Amino acid sequence: MGGMIRFHNTMGGKVEDFVPIEPGHVKLYTCGPTVYDYPHIGNWRAYVFEDLLKRFLLFRGFKVAHVMNITDVDDKTIRGAQAKGVGLDEYTKPFIEAFGRDRDTLAILPADHYPRATAHIPEMVALVRTLLEKGFAYKKEGSVYFAIDRYPAYGRLSKINLEDRRPGARGDADEYEKESVHDFALWKATKPGEPFWEAEIGPGRPGWHVECSAMSARYLGTTFDIHCGGVDNIFPHHENEIAQSEAANGVKLAHYWLHCHHLIVDGEKMSKSKGNFYALADILAKGYEPSDVRYLLLSTHYRRMLNFTFEALDQARTARQRMGNFLGELKDVAGPAEQTASVEPLIEAARAGFVAGLEDDLNIAEALAAVFTLIKNANPLLVRGAVSKDGAAKLAAFFKEIDTVLAIDPKPEVTASGRIDPTLNVRSAELIHTADALTLEIQEKVAARQKARAERDFARADAIRRELLDMGIVLEDTKDGVRWKKAGPPKG
Ligand code: AMP
Ligand code: ZN
Repeated sequence: MGGMIRFHNTMGGKVEDFVPIEPGHVKLYTCGPTVYDYPHIGNWRAYVFEDLLKRFLLFRGFKVAHVMNITDVDDKTIRGAQAKGVGLDEYTKPFIEAFGRDRDTLAILPADHYPRATAHIPEMVALVRTLLEKGFAYKKEGSVYFAIDRYPAYGRLSKINLEDRRPGARGDADEYEKESVHDFALWKATKPGEPFWEAEIGPGRPGWHVECSAMSARYLGTTFDIHCGGVDNIFPHHENEIAQSEAANGVKLAHYWLHCHHLIVDGEKMSKSKGNFYALADILAKGYEPSDVRYLLLSTHYRRMLNFTFEALDQARTARQRMGNFLGELKDVAGPAEQTASVEPLIEAARAGFVAGLEDDLNIAEALAAVFTLIKNANPLLVRGAVSKDGAAKLAAFFKEIDTVLAIDPKPEVTASGRIDPTLNVRSAELIHTADALTLEIQEKVAARQKARAERDFARADAIRRELLDMGIVLEDTKDGVRWKKAGPPKG
């Protein structure tokens, strides 16, 4: 079933047909947590996006070999351990455990391997040695650096401007901005009070980037299909991974690079100082279900910025509950219906829309719209008692099938009396229509645009339309008034 799967490849910046190296098998590497702190919901956006990708590939019948690294030695973990006066292992342990707990809570399928950087130092040393031998790296004061000038393809992924770099400029930090393109550290000379490993290349510890190059090769081979991360990984992390791996191995590192956009909070970057920094537990403590969070994280296209607000989380909960209550109503279908309506065409249309949406660079808006259209169309039949027990079972089976991808496990909202919550009665057409109701902020913007149009201030009306598009909402002016829908993937 299904057509060609297409993904937006950051390498080249286009949507391309997905063709795995080995038919039927996908090798997937996703950059994992740097375990210097508890994971936040921004991290979970990246991991939920990767889980949607993986689950859809599994749904389409691929076998997926998935590796996610655990960065347990880098600048940040070392700084944290020093500040606390404990060893790296002791320092990172609770964060690694929290990662595993939250991952299971969010119904994310575990990877096949979670290699820890500290357990793969020999592989990293071997890679650095190869780069020295091949002339792509040089030693300086006990450290080893990658010479970006000796690797002409440097900068292709992030399309950085190489003109601005200062010849011979070097940096030791794991993280830096595009503006300071420079030779980067593969192996860092030991410093007092820092953990280090004895090696032929001198005592020291790996740079962050070399960790992923060494561990992906160890578990997936030197070339694999898909490499994922958040957009913040593109430069320098993924750029440097490509340089290290491709210079050392002489083959392409990954065929497809998929990056998710950031999650922000209330329109601002999430940060501890602003007090808008959320771990999963902070949100669950407010009474939300893990599947509300999962639904919210996956329901905005991965290449669009996701603005986290509690209002948006409430909307996600409503949409999920609506699916759950529909399933509850199906359970109530008792016997053979008098006039049996065929639900198969509705299910077929929903499945086709769901699959076609996800095939189109994981267009989740289209996939979910197909599901809610099914609910909307099947409801009047349920109300009329025109769905047979068999039809109800087929509808329920369809929801089970798509939940292998969505993994939100929709359940009816039952009240204390054991009845389905009447305020979420799916039989009300009006409520179904608001399955993806607009947030207040968006409603206000739509109204402001209407007002601007009425006042013939078209420049302002267009500016508001663009703002809405940035928020993932498309407006259509029809003869019956203005309509809105959730935007699919961004163009390009
Ligand atoms: P880190 O632990 O910082 O190395 O990040 C782990 C993963 O989470 C990487 O793929 C990052 O790109 C991703 N990530 C970090 N912050 C955010 C955010 N605010 N929104 C989306 N992804 C993020
Ligand atoms: Zn990585």
